[in-house]
Amino acid sequence: MARLGIRKYSILFPLIFSVASSVISEIIAYNIVHDPNAVGLYIIFVNVIAILYFSFRDSVQGGYIVTTISIAYYLYIIYARHYTGNQLSAAIETTGWLAILYLAIASIIGFLKKTLDVIFIKEQESRRIAEEGQAWLQTILQQLPVGVLLVDAKGHDLQGNRQLEKILGRKAHAYLEVSNYKSEKTTKNGKALASKEFPIVRALVRGETIRAEEMEYLRDGDKEVSLRVNAAPIRNKNRQIIAAVSTFYDITEEKELERRKDDFVNMASHELKTPITSMKLYIDLLISRIKESGDEHAMKTLGSIKKQTEKLQELVSDLLDVSRIQTGKLQFSKEEFELGDLIQETIDILGETTRKQTLEFKIKSPITVYADRFRIYQVLTNLITNAIKYSPAGSTITIDVKKMKDKALISVADQGIGIEKDQQKKIFERLYQVSDPYEKTFPGLGMGLYISKEIIRRHRGTIWVESQKGKGSTFYFTLPLKK
Ligand code: ADP
Repeated sequence: MARLGIRKYSILFPLIFSVASSVISEIIAYNIVHDPNAVGLYIIFVNVIAILYFSFRDSVQGGYIVTTISIAYYLYIIYARHYTGNQLSAAIETTGWLAILYLAIASIIGFLKKTLDVIFIKEQESRRIAEEGQAWLQTILQQLPVGVLLVDAKGHDLQGNRQLEKILGRKAHAYLEVSNYKSEKTTKNGKALASKEFPIVRALVRGETIRAEEMEYLRDGDKEVSLRVNAAPIRNKNRQIIAAVSTFYDITEEKELERRKDDFVNMASHELKTPITSMKLYIDLLISRIKESGDEHAMKTLGSIKKQTEKLQELVSDLLDVSRIQTGKLQFSKEEFELGDLIQETIDILGETTRKQTLEFKIKSPITVYADRFRIYQVLTNLITNAIKYSPAGSTITIDVKKMKDKALISVADQGIGIEKDQQKKIFERLYQVSDPYEKTFPGLGMGLYISKEIIRRHRGTIWVESQKGKGSTFYFTLPLKK
């Protein structure tokens, strides 16, 4: 049995064995028992055993070699013992029958052995492939720069890679029972996360796929780390969940950097605000003085300085608003006002800055909304400025207001460059700008729509865009009519 699965069949060993056994039996017959006919039965028995053994050991070829040598030896006996008459014909007949029997045994056993070997080798091969695959997977898993946690269907067998242990500060098997998750250790938005809300548990139990969920984790009892976690169920062919996998990224440094950046922007914009306000006051003062002197050139220069200062002031004010949104400090003072009036005012102010596009707005019936007038002015300014910025000279920008149940629907439509479908949600994200090599000429920081979205959201309204690349965009937002 030990030779099962070995493909190298020996020729030499069965050959040597059967020649040797024939020679030995001749020696015994002539020199020990002194009866040349005494070997008959004994040698038949020995040869049957040898054929059985060698056809199993060395497959068909082993059995055939022993058979050939045995039959040759029997023929030699017939020749050497000088058989005659009946004895000769009986001996030849017996040898013939023995040859058939030996061949049959060698063929059957040899064939069986060969089949067994093939099966055994195939099984060994598939086991080797499976083991190699496992080793591969293990190596990849261990080398991955992200923490990976795997759990079986029952939630008992947990496996993790080195990075996971590094991130969580403990071995993966310490999570052996899902109920052992130290829920108080993990928080999301400052609240303790119940173990059933863990991404890997949700993937395993509810079949959810979780992408980039952020949470905090208390490592070694005192060090808070920020994690970005993904999780997904693993299903078999019948779509049954057989395991779940979760990946962990340590984003503590990323978060810290983001916080420092936000702090810096907040501080810098606060610091800039006061000097710019004073600058503007001085410029206004200078303008009123120069006006009296009638110096046209100085007036023009001061006018330009004033415009640039106002732009700077807007930028700083946007930066401050972004900071306020980040820290939840954006304040509103709501009142009832006539929306058409505000839109007209905005158009009048912005119309002065553009002579290239026509701003179209026809008020149909008055619509009173309940909102922060200044903040809505800010939203309108942003949308109309963008429409001016991203559309060609000679085109028309249409502003419209409609009543919709308990809401007012405002739209700003342009015939400009438009926005690709996959960018239409992203443009409302903080500091997001559509990157297109041909559109690099438009200045801006990608704050306007982010601020507008937050302002509208805080008014329980919605803001969105409908657009077709190259054809133009229409921005919509809603506002409540009453308190
Ligand atoms: P900014 O205009 O300062 O870059 P916004 O937040 O106002 O920032 O806009 C974000 C991005 O959305 C812009 O950079 C621009 O790519 C795109 N966008 C906004 N309005 C329009 C518009 N009317 N037409 C085409 N693209 C627009």
